[in-house]
Amino acid sequence: METKYKRIIIKLSGEALSGKVGFGIDPPTVQRICESVKEVFEQDVEIAIVVGGGNFWRGRFGEGMDKSTADYMGMLSTVINALALQDVLEQMGVPVRVQTAIEMKEVAEPYIRRKAVRHLEKKRVVIFAAGTGNPFFTTDTTAALRAAEVDAEMILLAKSVDAVYDSDPEVNPDAKKYDRLTYIDVINQGLKVMDSTAITLCMDNKIPILVFGLDQPENILKAVRGETIGTIIEE
Ligand code: UDP
Repeated sequence: METKYKRIIIKLSGEALSGKVGFGIDPPTVQRICESVKEVFEQDVEIAIVVGGGNFWRGRFGEGMDKSTADYMGMLSTVINALALQDVLEQMGVPVRVQTAIEMKEVAEPYIRRKAVRHLEKKRVVIFAAGTGNPFFTTDTTAALRAAEVDAEMILLAKSVDAVYDSDPEVNPDAKKYDRLTYIDVINQGLKVMDSTAITLCMDNKIPILVFGLDQPENILKAVRGETIGTIIEE
C-alpha cells in the first residue's frame, strides 16, 4: 500500500517504553512498538526515532540538585532506551544505527548529520539518543531539531493520549478533541503538546506534527498512510 510520507521522525517518550509498569523498560511493550516500526519500515519509509528518557529520570533530587546535572542524567537515560530499541529492532532483522549527541564511541556512533542521512538513504533506522546534547532542552525539541536537520516530512509524536484535547480527557469527560490545530493555536492556547521551544522550531521550519496514541501501535502505520488519526498540527 502507498504511504504518504517517505521520511519521518517518530518521537517516543520514555514512558511509552515502560508500558503499564510506569518505570524502566517493559519488554513486551518495546516488542509491540518495534513490531509497528518494522511494519512501517517494510513500506519503504525512512525512519528516524528520537527517544525520551522520562521512564528512568526526570527532574532532580530535591531542589538542591544542579539543573544541568539533572539534565545530563536525563540525556544518559535516553541512551539506555535507544540501546533497548536497537536490540529489539535488530533481532527483528531491521538494520539500525544509534547516534548519540554526547560522544560515547564505545556505545554508539556520534551524531553526524550527513552520516545519519546516509543511513536513512541506505534504509537503516536511525535512533537519535542523548537528546540535543545540551541541558535545558527536551527530547521533543530534539525531534524538531533532527527533523529539520535530516529533512523529515513530519514528526509522529506518540503519546499516552490519542490526540490533543482542550483539557485533560482523563479529568474532564467533556474535553474537546482537536483534529487539526495550527502551531499558533498550540502556543496561544498553551496546549501541552510539546514544550514551546519544540513547537516554535517546528513552526519556523514548517514541520507538521501528528499527535496520536501509542496504545495501538498500528497507529504508526496508519499515520504514514495519511489516515486521519489523532491531531495534526501544521500551519
Ligand atoms: N534532556 C536534556 N537535553 C536534551 C534532551 C533531554 O537535558 O536535549 C534531559 C532533560 O532533563 C529531560 C530528560 O533529558 O527531562 C529526558 O528527556 P524528556 O523529558 O524529553 O523525555 P520524555 O518526556 O520524552 O520521556
